Amino acid sequence: MGRFDGRVAVVTGAARGIGFGTATRFAEEGAAVAILDLDESSAADAAARLGEGVRAVGVGVDVADADQVEAAVQRVVDELGGLHILVNNAGVTRDNLLFKMTEQDWDVVMGVHLKGAFLMSRAAQKHFVAQKYGKIVNLSSTSALGNRGQANYSAAKMGVQGFTRTLGIELGPFGINVNAVAPGFIATEMTDATATRLGMGVEEFRELNAQHNPVRRVGYPADIAAAVAFLCSDEGSYITGQTLYVDGGATLV
Ligand code: NAD
Repeated sequence: MGRFDGRVAVVTGAARGIGFGTATRFAEEGAAVAILDLDESSAADAAARLGEGVRAVGVGVDVADADQVEAAVQRVVDELGGLHILVNNAGVTRDNLLFKMTEQDWDVVMGVHLKGAFLMSRAAQKHFVAQKYGKIVNLSSTSALGNRGQANYSAAKMGVQGFTRTLGIELGPFGINVNAVAPGFIATEMTDATATRLGMGVEEFRELNAQHNPVRRVGYPADIAAAVAFLCSDEGSYITGQTLYVDGGATLV
């Protein structure tokens, strides 16, 4: 018996990184999984990598596009037979100091993180409310608390926390839990790209960041997946509107 037997989970931005790690965890615990990502073939490849016997589908969608989101969610319901869990994980960075940040840097980051989470949650809630059951987890970040060069990303990730609290209030009476997970440094292609942009080696950058938290290691997608899975399990049903920092204690110091 898995915790998610009979459940259908949608994870956005799940072709790689934290999203793929989370999709893997849901599949291991019995869920049927929909991997949503920008490129349909990458999403389908990732769905296939979840393993034999796993009911999974890969769907190409830009989460910042309302029509594409509506179609993608309907396709998941049609192909996997329902919808119970939504993880708003898709994300991008467009880092720059304020004086160099372009309007496009701002709009792209707001579009994917904030508008994307809004559109996906709005499309999913129809199904959740009708069945009086649903779980939403939104990906925030320790950068919500402020991070040099990330005015856009920080604003979006703190916005995600306010969005989460408000949906917690609105959707709680319908049996829907809405929470956020705020990762610290997680070893993925997103942070590898930051290393490259800063002119550092990937391992050097990870080692540097490992020294910035009390547990003295970087995080991995599985660390985030474990927290997301707990919040989406029925053991977490009295928790809503919260943001759980999963950061090796980075925000303590
Ligand atoms: P990643 O760059 O490895 O993966 C992000 C995925 O999102 C990619 O597959 C990408 O194609 C997809 N995506 C981007 N824009 C999209 C769109 N418009 N529609 C659909 N899919 C889209 O990133 P990651 O490190 O795995 O991060 C996942 C989430 O966790 C993001 O929300 C990120 O902001 C957050 N986060 C990451 C870290 C970290 O250290 N890696 C820390 C805190 C928060």
